[in-house]
Order: sequence, then structure tokens, then C-alpha cells
Amino acid sequence: MAMLAHIVSYDTTSDRSDLPLIDWISGWMDAHGVSWSLSHDPSGEKANLHAIIGPREAGGLAFAGHVDTVPVTGQEWTGDPFVLREQGGKLIGRGAADMKGYVACMLAAVPDLVRIKLERPVHLLFTFDEEISCDGARVAMQDALENNLLPSVCVVGEPTLMTPVIAHKGRLAARLVARGKPGHSSRPAEGVNALHALGEAMAWVAAEARRLALEGRKVEGFEPPNSTIQIGFAQGGTAINIIPERAEALLEWRNVPGDDSHAMMARMEQELEATTGRWMREADPECGLTFEVLNELPPLALAADNPLTTAVKLATGANAEEFVSYGTEGGIYQQAGMTSIVCGPGSIEQAHRPDEWIARTQLERCDAFIRDMAQRVCARSTGAA
Ligand SMILES: [Zn+2]
Repeated sequence: MAMLAHIVSYDTTSDRSDLPLIDWISGWMDAHGVSWSLSHDPSGEKANLHAIIGPREAGGLAFAGHVDTVPVTGQEWTGDPFVLREQGGKLIGRGAADMKGYVACMLAAVPDLVRIKLERPVHLLFTFDEEISCDGARVAMQDALENNLLPSVCVVGEPTLMTPVIAHKGRLAARLVARGKPGHSSRPAEGVNALHALGEAMAWVAAEARRLALEGRKVEGFEPPNSTIQIGFAQGGTAINIIPERAEALLEWRNVPGDDSHAMMARMEQELEATTGRWMREADPECGLTFEVLNELPPLALAADNPLTTAVKLATGANAEEFVSYGTEGGIYQQAGMTSIVCGPGSIEQAHRPDEWIARTQLERCDAFIRDMAQRVCARSTGAA
């Protein structure tokens, strides 16, 4: 609770530097004789911290949490979001659930973890920018791989009410731009209508959305069980009698594990290139469609009988595992070669809301979970790692 109050007091909204909090965490590690290293974003204003307890080597178990939060601007808080307060077993503050609660449990466990005789390392990963791009996790993985310090398995502590979550969909967001040629509407042959081109692309997406629902690969456990596609925003043109020069749409794929979002986008590009792109280019070689990836998150898929799933079920006492509809850094970790699962205190229902809270009992369960997992995976001669 004191630890969470301290962590919450740092405003680590994603658009700000996380260095003051990371500095404090490094001091905490020093105070307990734990080795740590930083990896930065290109600006140097943000950093991940990777602490290692036990043998300083690859393998072992990682607990991973992001330290950034969503903004409080425009939200109706009934108190200072950066001052943790308790009301009837609920601890209220920005990030309490997503996911400073877990981060606080990771930090509070350090004095106990350093006393365990560890055969394999326990890694603590604190990352930046999860709420905007997950680039912190990418930088952390690159750093761990370069230094040969990649953990074998990882528990990402996004709020799941301490239920093991073994799968989520991936997401690819892209901007589609139709570059046309302006002109007067009375002389259509002299221009290239960007909105007509975008309209064809949008019709393609609508058909693809229906096709995926009917014939897409189904992965049981997801709702809906198939990959999806949608356009969420579109704009173009300036006036009714001017041939639009430019039009754009924002679209996203949410792919089930096993469906490759890049391949799905490539197919859209190819098919539209052969139809819409062709008539645009024939009218003017400068015209056409372009796709730009805005951000992406790989899906997470862990087998229900994976030893990590089993270890987390035993440590939490959960008898089932779940799938969720939101993305996490777990997909990036999995892709980097770290077997990953999502399990953390608090509810996703609370995430990003005004008066975000976490139940004190959730933190207590998480405290026990972290110690149990470290023992289970890293202290014995056999285990998930
Ligand atoms: Zn989160």
C-alpha cells in the first residue's frame, strides 16, 4: 500500500518522461543489492529498467509491468489522481489497476526475493510507452537479446483479477491514403477522384469483414472467434464541385493467433493495386493508394498445457485460464522468444477510468503470487523455466 502510494505519486502519463520514477526504482534496487540496467527510447527521455535477482544470466522468470499510464485530462476525478486514497478496501489513484498495482507488488517483493536461494534468475522488467505504442517492450527485448539476458518465461501483470490469461488477439492499425488529382467536377476526365478510389477500398474492407466473419479461421475462446477488420475513420474532399485530391481512412485488423496481420494487409494492397490502383495510375502515374502502418501488436497464444500455464494456475489457485480481447506487451515478449502469460491484480474494467481503483485484497493475492512463482520456477531444479 505504501509502495503503491509512492509509485502513484509520480505522474508517468505516457506523454511525459518516466525517468524520475525509473531513477527511484534504481535506487530501490541499489538499496537491496540488486543489479539493474536501463534501455532508452531514441529521445533519451524514457527508459526501461531491467533488474536481475540471482544469477545474472539469461533464462529464469520475468515479472513485467509498464510504468506509464493514460492521461487524467478530461476525466472527472473526485480527488487528486496522483495521491492514493483508500475507500472501503478500494485503493484509488491513476494507474492503481493499470498497472502500478502490479509494479508496486514487484518492488515490494524485492527484499524477500533477494533472500531466496535462486538457481535461475528472477527478472523484473519495468517498461515505458505501453499505453501508446508498446515500444518500451520492443526496446527492452532488443536490449535483453543483445546482452544475452533474455528470460525464458514471463508474467505480464496487466489486470486480470489474478486469473491466468493465455491468449489475446493481435492488432494492426494502418492509414490508407488515396492520392488523386484535383479538377472541376464538370471535367472528370482531367482529374482523379480520390474519394471514389477510397470508396472502392472501403467496399473491399466491408466485404472482407463479412468474409472473415463467415469463412475466417476460428479460434475457440475468442469472441468473435475470427480475425476482424474495420474502418474507424475516413475523410476526404473539400467541396461538392471539386474533384477530391486526397482522401484517407484509418483501419485496423484484430487478428487471432495464427493469422498474420501483415499478410492480410498485403493481400488488401495487392487486390486493390490491381483494380483501384490501376485506374488511378492509368489516369495519372502520380496517383494511387498508399498504406502506412501506424502501430501493431502481435497476438499472444500460450498452450493451456504449457508448464508456465500450469505454474501460474497452481500459484494463483485458478482452475481455468482465459482469453481476453485487449492487447498486451505479452505478444511482443512472446515474439522475442520469451514464453509469456498475462496475470495481474485488479480489473481491466477499472483501467483508464476516472477514480481508477484496485482492491487491497488483489494486491495481497499478487504479493503471495510473486513469491510463490519465484520459488516455483527459479528456486527448484525443475520448473517452467
Ligand atoms: Zn496496462
